[in-house]
Amino acid sequence: MSQGLVGARAVVTGGAGFVGSWLCERLLSEGAEVVCVDSLLTGHRDNVAHLRERAGFHLVVADVCDCVPVTSPVDLVFHLASPASPLHYLRLPLETLRVGSVGTTNALELAAEHGARFLLASTSEVYGDPARHPQPEDYWGNVNPIGPRSVYDEAKRFSEATTAAYRRHRGVDTVIARIFNTYGPRMAVADGRVVPTFVQQALDGEPLTVAGDGRQSRSLCYVEDTVEGLLRLALSGLQGPVNIGNDDETTMLELAHTVLTLTGSSSQIRFIELPEDDPRLRRPDLTVARERLGWSPMTPNDVGLKRTVEWVTQQLSSGTRRRPATSAPPAR
Ligand code: NAD
Ligand code: UDP
Repeated sequence: MSQGLVGARAVVTGGAGFVGSWLCERLLSEGAEVVCVDSLLTGHRDNVAHLRERAGFHLVVADVCDCVPVTSPVDLVFHLASPASPLHYLRLPLETLRVGSVGTTNALELAAEHGARFLLASTSEVYGDPARHPQPEDYWGNVNPIGPRSVYDEAKRFSEATTAAYRRHRGVDTVIARIFNTYGPRMAVADGRVVPTFVQQALDGEPLTVAGDGRQSRSLCYVEDTVEGLLRLALSGLQGPVNIGNDDETTMLELAHTVLTLTGSSSQIRFIELPEDDPRLRRPDLTVARERLGWSPMTPNDVGLKRTVEWVTQQLSSGTRRRPATSAPPAR
């Protein structure tokens, strides 16, 4: 599977983020040279600090809405740059729309210029609050186009449309990955997503903040499984979209209890208001990924969650609780 990456030059936009940093690491291990382009808007240098001394790794701090400042050769473009946590994109609505539109166009232009294959990191959010369950790739979704989450959902839908248009009209070799909720080490403890939030609360003895009645579901995928799926997609001839995620569905109340058990915490559960337009259900139909990529998620969630508990424990003991992004980029 890895032969196609030896000596390849890959650009990873958003490579200093959570998923991007794992992708950069894996690409390097497979023998590729990696140019990580990141504005550090929601990511952090620490996520790739361990890669800085590795041969073939380059970090370029830049906003892909200006341009993607990379010279040839480029064989693969992985476009991950975008706020991804609801906490971030609700605070950064215009930045999120802009990176989904202008940033995606710039990343596609880079691929067009160099004849590179292009992978778009899209999302299960394109399905919105789904009327079909589980969600297959041919489901067009149910998104409120003017609700607070639309800045992310519609930006990603626009990204998909732009990617499809560059394939049709500019002949760019593209593939769209629809990633479902992914978790694991290197998620910022304070990034607001449910797994690091529950784990931090459990470890600190704070109440776990379950939104609504906690019956809404998500299907959580461990990050190394997601990255394996992205690599297989990049090396396939598929154009997608292809769902990448885990179909082990859980309610948020069940997840809270799982985290309490794994951490041995005696924290209480506190029910908080359900965010507007919060999807009620989410589970990928993985038929395409299984049949066309031979890919399935391999990491059971108790294993992935234990690794995440270890990560959050380390972060808390070293005093690292990165603050949520504001509209201004963090100090570099
Ligand atoms: P993240 O916030 O940790 O990483 C995103 C990265 O993009 C950050 O390093 C950020 O600084 C960078 N970035 C944002 N705007 C930029 C810009 N204009 N120019 C350059 N860099 C910019 O989020 P993540 O969870 O790692 O998500 C990565 C990608 O995967 C996103 O595109 C997200 O939509 C997609 N995705 C993630 C999940 C998930 O559960 N983690 C699910 C579906 C899709
Ligand atoms: N959630 C929760 N408590 C929190 C944070 C999130 O119950 O402290 C819920 C949220 O309302 C959603 C689910 O967990 O139903 C997943 O939220 P997350 O932000 O991780 O990702 P989303 O799938 O909404 O993008």
